[in-house]
This record gives sequence, C-alpha cells and structure tokens, in this order.
Amino acid sequence: MTALSQVAEQSANPGSGTPSASRDSGTLRRFVRSVRFRLTLWFVAILALIVGAFCLFIYFRQVQVTREQTLSRLEAQSGLLANFYRASVHSALEEGFEGSESDALVTQNQPLLQVSDALALVGADGQVLQHSGNLSIEDLAAVRSAWLEAPDPTMPIDYPLPQIDGAAGSQGYLFVVTPVEFERGIQTDLLLGGPVDPGGQLPRLALTLGLVYTLTLLVAFGGGYWLADRAMHPVQVITGTAREIGERDLSRRLHLGREDELGRLADTFDQMLDRLQRAFERQRQFTANASHELRTPLAVIELEADRALEGSRTSDDYRAALEVIREENEWMGGLVDQLLTLARMDSGLALGQPERLDLAEIAVEVIDRLSPLARDKDLSLMAGQLDESPVLADQTLMTHMLTNLVANGLKYSTGDQAQVLVEAGITQRLGRRWAWLRVADNGPGIPAEHLPHLFDRFYRVDPARGRIRRIVDLSDSGSGLGLAIVQSIARSLNGEVEVQSQLGRGTTFTVWLPEAT
Ligand code: ADP
Repeated sequence: MTALSQVAEQSANPGSGTPSASRDSGTLRRFVRSVRFRLTLWFVAILALIVGAFCLFIYFRQVQVTREQTLSRLEAQSGLLANFYRASVHSALEEGFEGSESDALVTQNQPLLQVSDALALVGADGQVLQHSGNLSIEDLAAVRSAWLEAPDPTMPIDYPLPQIDGAAGSQGYLFVVTPVEFERGIQTDLLLGGPVDPGGQLPRLALTLGLVYTLTLLVAFGGGYWLADRAMHPVQVITGTAREIGERDLSRRLHLGREDELGRLADTFDQMLDRLQRAFERQRQFTANASHELRTPLAVIELEADRALEGSRTSDDYRAALEVIREENEWMGGLVDQLLTLARMDSGLALGQPERLDLAEIAVEVIDRLSPLARDKDLSLMAGQLDESPVLADQTLMTHMLTNLVANGLKYSTGDQAQVLVEAGITQRLGRRWAWLRVADNGPGIPAEHLPHLFDRFYRVDPARGRIRRIVDLSDSGSGLGLAIVQSIARSLNGEVEVQSQLGRGTTFTVWLPEAT
C-alpha cells in the first residue's frame, strides 16, 4: 500500500488511528512508570546534582583565582607607577600636566600596562589630571567616587563595564586606587584598573563545563537505562514465567540461579510454587480418595438393592438386604461427617466456642463413655496420671479428638493383657508451658515407615482393615481420617500431636496444647 493510499484510507476512516494512538500512549505511560525509567531518572538527577555542583565549584574557583591574579598584578603595577610618579612628575605637576611632557609620561608608563588597562591620576578635587586607556573621564570619576564611598580604601573597586574592546568579558573591571602625594602637599589618587578576566577565559570555561555537564548527563541517562534494564531483566523473566503458570501447570519453576536479591526472590517464588503444587496435589488426592471411599458402599447398596428386587424373596432376605443397606448408609454418613469436619477445620469454621477446659476432666468423661465398649472387647481402659491441665478450646472438639485416639487404641489392641491408658498433665517445653494428653496402648504397634504418613488423610497402615465394621459405636469406622482430624484440631489450637510406636509393644499418641493462663 502506498503512503498516499494510506493517508487516503486514514482520512476516509478517521477512527482507525485511535486504537494505535491509545496503544502508543499506553506504551509510553508504561515506560514512564517503569522502574527502569524511574531508576534511571533518579540516577541522572543525583548525578546532575553532583556534577553540577562540581562544575559550579570549578567555575567559581576559577573566577576567584582569575580575580586574585588580576588584583595582585594591579597592586604590583600600581605600586610601581606610584613610585614612578612621585619620582618624576613633580616638575610636570608644576606645569599643570599640560603639554607634551605629560603625554610622554603616560607613554613611558605604557610597558607596565596591558592593552585594556586604564590608568588615571585624579586630583583631590576630583579632576582627572591624567588618564590613559579606553575608559572615559566620567567612568574614571565614577570609579573614584565609588572608592571614596567605600568603607575600606585599601579594598579594590569593582566597576561593571561589561564590554570594552571585547576584553572585559562578563566580569567587568577591577580598580586599585593608590594615593600619591607630591611635593608641596599636592594630593592625588592613582587609579589603575584592568579587566578581571583579560583573556576571556571564564566564558570559555563556562561553555566547556556546560558541554561536559550536558554530555555527562546524556551518557549517564543512556548508561543508567542500560544498567537498570539489565538489573530488571530477571524481574521480566519472573513476570513472564508467572504469567505462563496456570492452575494446571504448577510444575514450572524459575530456577534463576542467582545469589543476589532477585535470585532470593525467585527462590522464594519457587518455594511458594512448591507449596502450592503440594497443596493442589493434596487437594486432588483428597477428592479422589473421598470419591473412592464413597464408591464402595454405594456399589454395595446398589448390589443389595438389585439382589432384593430380583424375583420374590423371603422377608428374611429383604431384612438382611435392608440391614446391609442401612449399615453401608451409616458408614457413608460417618465418612461424610468426618469429611465435613475436616473441611470446616480447613476453612477455620469449626473452631467452635473456645472456653477454659481441663483436659483431665475431658479424659475422665471420654473414659466413662468408652468403658462399656472396652469391656465388650475385654480390654482395660484406664486413667493414669490426670493432673489439672487447663486449655482454651471447644469442648466438643476436645472430646472428638480424645475419642478418636482412645477409639483407635481400643480398635487396634487385642488380647487378654491389652490395655489403653489415658493421662494428662502440664510440662515446661520449648520455653513455655504446655498441657498434654497422652493415650498409650500395648497393642501391635505401627511399623516405623508408616509413622511419617500416619496423619495424612485416608492413610491406613493396613488398607485391608479399613472396612472392618464398627468395633466401637463411634463415627470412626476405619476410613483413615481419624488421626487427620486429631491433627487438624490440635493445630487449630496452635498445638501438635506426636506418635511413638514400637512393633509388638504398643503405640503412644501425645497431644500438646498451649496451657490456658
Ligand atoms: P482409621 O479410621 O483407619 O483408624 P486413623 O486415621 O484413625 O484411621 O488411623 C490411621 C491408621 O493408623 C490406621 O489405619 C491404623 O492402621 C493406624 N493406627 C492408628 N491408631 C493406632 C493404634 N493405636 N495402634 C495401631 N495402629 C494404629
């Protein structure tokens, strides 16, 4: 498409330029707001201050040096000239500074003077008796009046004459006034002035410094932007990767492999992704396990119902089928209750109403409630040391937690000597006081390799035993959720649960909770 046709198209379709214009302004706004740009601006601003201050220092130092040089030259010359006048002018004075002799005097002095210097001899009455140089008599008289008005007559007089033969530059003239007394008490003042910056060095220096300053800032801006861009590159990598990571692809990692702050940020980000991935996988696993657990009883119910419906059956058959269905239904009910408890614990909804409770009292209550079941199984359920151990917790949750532990003890211990012991007390640990609750049995114990997973949801040491029908009349029915609930409850109260087990000797669960003060 030619340029002409593009213009024609744009004018025919005026709205078509707007999106790209707004895109451009959006890009510009993003650029101006970017950290790279702002870092560069800060860098350049600080450098501008430092280099600016340095250039100003150099310039004003040079002004001072130039002025001092001019002054010392003028003072030295003025002393020489004053002596010269004193020695050789008395006769001319008598003649009133007129005629060719006085001109000769000035001409004789010329080698002491520079081209742009101004020399004048002014009488006590203010009359300019003799002068040389480019300054007018009015200027010289004005310099003398300024000198007369000055508080310190030994100080030089600045006289602003910006442009005299192009030599004075912007610094003007500097005058030194030396009183010269002649014979017969005739008082005169010798004015000797010269441009502060006779060579015009200062404007050149100002120009050079200005150029250096501008160039430095330009280079600093370019270099600063390049550096900032390099420094921010890892951030762009992090942003890009973070954008690519979806809920289903949590396996991506940054792996920046740097040891600086950005490397640490990337590592933290990677660790967070690790945790997220684990959490998502746990969640996925949990859902899969829950569906699996529910599928079996549902299949049993369907099977029993189909069987009962096939042809005519005796009432005993129907009763048996209905009992199986009820049993499976109860089991599912228990499982759903446990799932609900866990879900509510996870969302922090199941904290109940915390109140000051004594773990020893909870232990007594649970032992009382479960004793008949222990007797049924010929087990002894005993209370050991039960010291007052106050905690701040919800009573139902505490009972639920201890019931799960004691029920497990009863469920997995068998034999004549089998016993379950419940204890409670207070111990100083890790710098604070903890209330503890211990359930110990002398059952079969748990193999060491299972201990790290014992509190995982749906984890069973022996999956085949999962569906042993209820030994105790509790909601726990071998789903592998009982200990997960115990841990959830303990953690919701800022506590922890521990397990110790020895094969053939028994298992001990200890729950630690912060003591209520
Ligand atoms: P379950 O409903 O299967 O009992 P839990 O979460 O309560 O689920 O327990 C998980 C597993 O830990 C059980 O399958 C069991 O093998 C083991 N376990 C728990 N308590 C004991 C115990 N006191 N003695 C031996 N094994 C135990």
